[in-house]
Amino acid sequence: MITSAFSQVGQIASQRSVHAALAWLHLHEQQIMRWQLECVAIPAPPFAESARAAWIAARFEALGLADVHQDEAGNVLGVLNPAPPIADPAALPGQPPVILLSAHMDTVFPGHTPLDPVLTGTRLRAPGACDNGAGLAALFAVAAALRHAAIAPRCRIVFLGNVGEEGEGDLRGIRHIYAQPHWRANIAAHLVLDGAGQTIAVTEALGSRRFEVLVTGAGGHSWTDAARPNPIVALSEAITRLRSKQTSLSSSAEPAAKTNGHKGRDHARPKTRTTWSIGTIEGGSSVNAIPATATGRFDLRSTDAAELLHLEVELHRAVEDAVIAANRGCPAEHTLRFSIRNIGDRPAGALPEDARILLLLRAVDRHLGLRTELRTASTDANIPLALGVEAISLGAGGAGGGIHTTAEWFDGRGRDVGLRRILLLVLALANCDADSPHEPDEPGHLDHLDEPDEDQLSNHNPGHAVENTPTDSLPQDPAAEL
Ligand SMILES: [Zn+2]
Repeated sequence: MITSAFSQVGQIASQRSVHAALAWLHLHEQQIMRWQLECVAIPAPPFAESARAAWIAARFEALGLADVHQDEAGNVLGVLNPAPPIADPAALPGQPPVILLSAHMDTVFPGHTPLDPVLTGTRLRAPGACDNGAGLAALFAVAAALRHAAIAPRCRIVFLGNVGEEGEGDLRGIRHIYAQPHWRANIAAHLVLDGAGQTIAVTEALGSRRFEVLVTGAGGHSWTDAARPNPIVALSEAITRLRSKQTSLSSSAEPAAKTNGHKGRDHARPKTRTTWSIGTIEGGSSVNAIPATATGRFDLRSTDAAELLHLEVELHRAVEDAVIAANRGCPAEHTLRFSIRNIGDRPAGALPEDARILLLLRAVDRHLGLRTELRTASTDANIPLALGVEAISLGAGGAGGGIHTTAEWFDGRGRDVGLRRILLLVLALANCDADSPHEPDEPGHLDHLDEPDEDQLSNHNPGHAVENTPTDSLPQDPAAEL
């Protein structure tokens, strides 16, 4: 199977039109960087992505994608259709006809954060320059290269700029896509573009569940009402009880053989890892008062869905037991109560070793002379992976750092290797017959993209010297939340 995937990729890469697409990527770094700069200059805080979404939709239109529109969640979609006649479905037995290529448009930065992107040589500095300016730029670049080369894929390739990946967004953009039956039934493979790099592939989705625990009571004076139960003490007791479960949780570091949603696969899963943390704690109003409330926010994570559920049960048990213990012998009007609210949910999942998308990625990497490094992370790919849809999250080439800080940067040097990797994988997934007899689709339409664009970006900050930071020594950490 590896050999056939490798020969398939070699065959695709040898086609004239694919050569033209790859050459476009190589020659247009400055154009791609300009799109990236313009895009990251537009604020896109969680739940307020509409201005950036409008810009992305206009870019998709300009690139000649079909059916460009925004959905109810605020996602922007554009389609590269197969040339008519629609490819014979019999040629793709059992393969639904959509390859989804997505990049999240939201950032972690509040709307008032100054963005002011600065380009110095090949290096772009701005909050969100890399995460996910790099992924969005790759969407535009791949669409432009395919359109330029008039490649007619055999599947529909859907380009998606999605909302709600970061933090409290809780993957709502991708969640919305998979909640639509017409997408859910037709997506054969999903490639998520997130951040920089060209060797990392996230194939295991780190699941997380987040909870806000609220303990309330009657409150009172610290001396005269000292017998009343104290919410902060009860919450602390719950934390201690959960911590005492650490021993049973650590057993989850043993190898497990779960298939985790991928029916029909029975390969052994790698080791699972399960963690929990309390991130914030607050409550009380005065040093000499028994508090009326205590609140804690818990972050539970696991590579294994069953482990995550087990941990959630342990959290509920710890809080309930702590409150019951605190209320023992207490009159009813002074008892503590508690509530536990789910404030985040990212499902776990994993790609089987023999998944077609992974075999093709390995073949593409071999073709390009790249290592393939598999990682675990929390990305938009969590949703399809948990549903058993073949999905991978890849870096979009180049290098980046300072992720989720205002000092974030992206360096476009060597980006075209990462872009070639994405383009070849998309075409392999689409089982593309690039040199089909179909007429090219308005081949002159993208002529303006071919104008040499030297000078335009290097003049952007004419007074600044090129920084010579050795970006190779600063790889993006893919294990971080992307
Ligand atoms: Zn990201």
